[in-house]
Formats: sequence, structure tokens, C-alpha cells
Amino acid sequence: MEANPSLLDTVGVGDLVLLDPLSEESLLQNLKERFQHREIYTYIGNVVISVNPYQPLPIYCPQTVEQYRNCNFFALKPHIYAIADDAYRSLRDRDKDQCILITGESGAGKTEASKQVMSYVAAVCSKGEEVNQVKEQLLQSNPVLEAFGNAKTIRNDNSSRFGKYMDVEFDFKGQPLGGIISNWELTLERDCSRYGYLGREDPRLPGMDDAANFRAVQVRALLEVAAVVLKLGNVQLGSQFQASGIESCSIQETRAVREIGDLIGLPESALEKALCSRTVEAKREKVVTGLSVAQGCYGRDALAKNIYNRLFNWLVNRINASIKVDSSERRKVMGVLDIYGFEIFQHNSFEQFVINYCNEKLQQVFILMTLKEEQEEYVREGIQWTPVDFFDNSIICSLIEDSQAGILAMLDEECLRPGVVTEETFLAKLNQVCASHKHYESRATQNARHVTDASLAGPCFRVHHYAGKVTYNVTGFVEKNNDLLFRDLSQAMWKARHELLRSLFPEGDPQKASLRRPPTAGSQFKASIATLMKNLYSKNPNYIRCIKPNETKEAGVFTAGLVQIQVRYLGLLENVRVRRAGYAYRQSYEPCLERYKMLCKQTWPQWKGGARDGVQALLTDLRIPPAELAYGRTKIFIRTPRTLFDLEDRRRQ
Ligand code: ATP
Ligand code: MG
Repeated sequence: MEANPSLLDTVGVGDLVLLDPLSEESLLQNLKERFQHREIYTYIGNVVISVNPYQPLPIYCPQTVEQYRNCNFFALKPHIYAIADDAYRSLRDRDKDQCILITGESGAGKTEASKQVMSYVAAVCSKGEEVNQVKEQLLQSNPVLEAFGNAKTIRNDNSSRFGKYMDVEFDFKGQPLGGIISNWELTLERDCSRYGYLGREDPRLPGMDDAANFRAVQVRALLEVAAVVLKLGNVQLGSQFQASGIESCSIQETRAVREIGDLIGLPESALEKALCSRTVEAKREKVVTGLSVAQGCYGRDALAKNIYNRLFNWLVNRINASIKVDSSERRKVMGVLDIYGFEIFQHNSFEQFVINYCNEKLQQVFILMTLKEEQEEYVREGIQWTPVDFFDNSIICSLIEDSQAGILAMLDEECLRPGVVTEETFLAKLNQVCASHKHYESRATQNARHVTDASLAGPCFRVHHYAGKVTYNVTGFVEKNNDLLFRDLSQAMWKARHELLRSLFPEGDPQKASLRRPPTAGSQFKASIATLMKNLYSKNPNYIRCIKPNETKEAGVFTAGLVQIQVRYLGLLENVRVRRAGYAYRQSYEPCLERYKMLCKQTWPQWKGGARDGVQALLTDLRIPPAELAYGRTKIFIRTPRTLFDLEDRRRQ
């Protein structure tokens, strides 16, 4: 990290590391001032903060691309292109795999940011027929995925309902070879490779001679399956009393079921049976029992969710197949992760729990990687490293993910326990096991600490996350974690004549009836996070933190309270603190001498010796306190921003 004094000439400071004094208030004020001057980007070292302008700005034109191309990260105004350029160049020239992490809440501008990064990289990497094709496809894949994965929500007209990770592969010269997209559809995620045929099958289907026709057939099949999801929503279940007096469910009106049956090639009666009853195996005997209305509705919704998610995964696989190029060369990879930020709502459920866990992990990587990078620079420069005290959130991570006493493990244990599983027993167990954990709070622990808080009433527990306290309501935790699809339903889908649909339900094959119980949503998520973390640790991370300035999607409106919350959730203050724990500012000797040599007779107009000696002569002459400085091998380090401002002031006089 190397700051350029030009960052001081912009509105406020272009790099928060130079903020003086540093407080949440000054940080917010600085972001606000810049935003009002349409400076939406601000750095913290090499982290880019982006405040959504909610209006088209003329800063993404080819001329801007040219400006940022091959330019020193800090020589120009803060811009997302600078980080994209930095990442692309270290990939190409220093052979380091890169990852670009884009976080922020819904509507903060993550997806826009990822598109800007992709189009910058597409614009600067060298040209060539095949390369262009890959670029095209990567940029094109976005609208297709968006059409499927996005939804219009209150908070964003075009909200991505999944976290998206995309790897772009480059050859050794830095030309793109292809890419891989993975999706993180929260809690409902199903890994395709777990499904026998999807994993093994070459996604590039054979016999593509008649490509156009083939495509038309595929599109038709896809739309048919999507239609099934919608029609399932119209299936009404009502209650009915059996001869034995037991209440069970039945289809209220048969039209939707008939239509689905026709669409997928399955007798109406088979579908009806699968929706309203369940086969249970007991002592090698199969018993068919009727479902209650609630169970029936649960099964119907689970089926719809499963079809939708598996179809989405199928689509991602198809796109991957089209953008992946086989090559035996070693590849360099640039990953782009577009993922939900920390969420705290009025009512927080399993989804928030899981997304916040993910953010807790991302924060952990972030702090550790930032510290590591700083430390490495100090070692390179031969400067003494003083340990930085920072909040280590691994204690919160283990509260959630510990394989025995972790909340997810306890939830799994409850879900797998035979007998009646309820949320109450789960909560009671949590309260007992986590009672003494510093970051866990329940009514019981509150009583012990003699505090009461109305918001913890009801079946709730509270976690003290790095970003704040969140109260989770356990209602639905068990069901969402189980996310079970009754076997009768998967078997019915597998029996359908519709090729695409049945391929999505390989476990419905009676030959594979012995397939193990699928892992719970929580453990699948934990596994994908672990994979993601491994991936991040192996790459050079680049961060883009997106902020939503107002709730009304208006240009020019900066709601300080709203931004303040996000600044906390993104841990920005801690970020600045860690960044300047040792020395806030550093610069190579040559440009430093060049900029300030006019301040000292010895160095003006021309210093004869080496740049390092020149800077030393200069700063000694200016009586800068030695404790403020450290002379590294190639750079001068300045402890506090004040000293730098002082130099700047003298220069202006
Ligand atoms: P979600 O998590 O819901 O998917 P998101 O963070 O991906 O949200 P975007 O879809 O990227 O949010 O942005 C929301 C809207 O804000 C965009 O549709 C666009 O209108 C506007 N916007 C975001 N970034 C910019 C930008 N840099 N310039 C102009 N408009 C922007
Ligand atoms: Mg998005």
C-alpha cells in the first residue's frame, strides 16, 4: 500500500487512512462530503468504498479506462477501475491469483460493481478472436443469470437473490480462457455434483450438430420446468377426514395438478398421491400414510423450491460449460464474489443467521489478510513490527461453527434426532450449552446477568456479532435446516417423462433408494463457506465495500443514519485502525524527495546523492520528530497523518 499526496487534493480525503482526527463521525462526514461532490469512491489503503450514486455518472467511459490502465493505484482519484487494474496487473505480472470481494447490503451496488470490474478487465486484456468470445460470454452470462436469479424487492428493483462467485481464468500472458460461476443461493443451495448424473455428465451434451434446434429444445424444456414451479403455487390443499376419523389432505381443485401432469408427462393420480401422502418404511414394510394439510403444503413448497434451485444450478452449469475452455496450461484465476452483507432486521431468521455467519467469516479473512499484508511489508522494508491489537472474531465464528458446541452442530443434532423435533428443545439445548459464552445471550443468561430486554421475549437467542447484536427467532430453524424433500416427491419427479425435469431428481431413482439422507442446509452452507475461505486464503484479495446512501433510491441523498449502520456492519473504522496501526502513510523515496525537496536548502534544486539519503536529510532539516518516522529499504514510513499534513502545509506556503 502506498498513498499518493494527490489523495489530499481531492474533496475531503481520498484515503480514510489519512483522516485526522479519526472517528466514526469524521469518517461519515468525509464520505458525505465526497458523495455530495459526486466522488462516490474512497479508499482505505487499497480497499475501495463505493457509495451508490443512484444516477449514471460519466466516469465509466473508455477514456477513463485508458486513464486507469497501467497507472499507479494511487496516482489518480479513487476509482473502482484502479482496484480492477491493480488486481489484473498483479495477476498478469506477478502471477498471483486474485479475488475481488464485493460486499454490501441489498441495493448498495454490488452487482453493478462486479459488472464494472468485469468490463474493465475485458477492456484492458489483449485482444484476439477466442479471447473476445470468452469476454463476451462472461459479460453476457450476467443478464441470463439475473433473469433467473433476481427478483424485484422493496429494497432493490433488481436484487440478486443469491450470492455469486465467478472465476475467470487467464493464461500465462493474462488473456482470459474461460470462467466458472458458482451460486450461493442461500439455505436452499444444492450442490449439483452431489447428484449422480449432473456431476458425472459432461455438461456439453453430445450430438450438438444441430445446434440451433438443440438450443430451442433446451429453452423450451427450461421454460416448461419453470412453469411447473409456478403452477405448483396454484395447487390448493384442503383437509379431508378419512374413514378412521384421521384428518388428512387432499387436492382442492384438480386443474393445476392436471396441467403439471400434462406438462411433465406424469399421470395426475401419481402426482396427487405424492403430494398428499408419504411412504414410510418400517421394518421392511412400506406403510403409506396421509399427510396433514400443513405437511402437504410443506411438501409442495419444498418441491417447488427444489425444482427451482436445481433448475438454476443446471443453468449455471450450462453457462459454465459454454465459457470453460479446456487447456492443460497453468492458469491464473481472478475470482469475483458478489455477496450479501451483514443483515439485521426486525425479525431475523435462519437466512440472516447464515448470511451473518458468512460475513463473520469474511471479516475474519479480511482482518487477518490485512494484518498479514502489513506485516509482510514491514518485513520486506526491514521495519520493526509492533503487534496490533484488534478484535479477533474467531470466538464468534466458533460459537456458530464449532463441530460440537457450535450452534449449527446443535441444530443438526436436533434435526437428526429420531422422535419429535421441536424448536423449543433446540433452543433449550443452546441455552444450556452456550450459557457461559461471552457472545451468546438468552433470557436465561440475561436473568443471570440481571438484565431484561423485551426484544428477547419469545423463542429467541442473541449473538453478539462483530457488527452488532442480532436477535434470532428460532421459529423455522429446524424446518429450514432440514429442507427435506419427501422421497415420494423426488420419486414422482424421477418418473416423469420430461427429460430435463427427471434429470434434476436423480435420487428419485428407486435403484438409488439407499442414497444417504442429504446433508442439512446448515452443514452444506458451512461446507461451502469453508471452500470459499480456502479459496480466498489462496488468492490475493481485493475489497470493494458498497454502501447504500438512502432508502428511496434517490440521487444526491445521503442519509447519515443509514450510512452509519452500514459503516459499522462493514467494520470500516476497525479497517482504518488496522491499516494505520503502525504507520499511516508510506511512500517510495524518489517521489517523496521530488515532492518535498523544495522545503530544504540541501535538497533544492537537485540532490546529488541517493533518494533515501535525500529524504533523510530533508526530514532531519525539517525537524520531524524521529519517532514519527521509519526508514525502510525503499520507502519512508510516517506514523501519523498530522505529519504528512504538516509537510503539505509547508509546501503550500
Ligand atoms: P442486491 O444485493 O439486492 O442484489 P446490489 O448490491 O447488487 O443489490 P445493484 O443491483 O448493483 O445492487 O444496484 C442497485 C441499483 O443501483 C442499480 O440497478 C443501479 O440503478 C444503481 N447503481 C448501483 N451502482 C451504481 C453506479 N456505480 N452508478 C450508477 N448507478 C448505480
Ligand atoms: Mg446484486
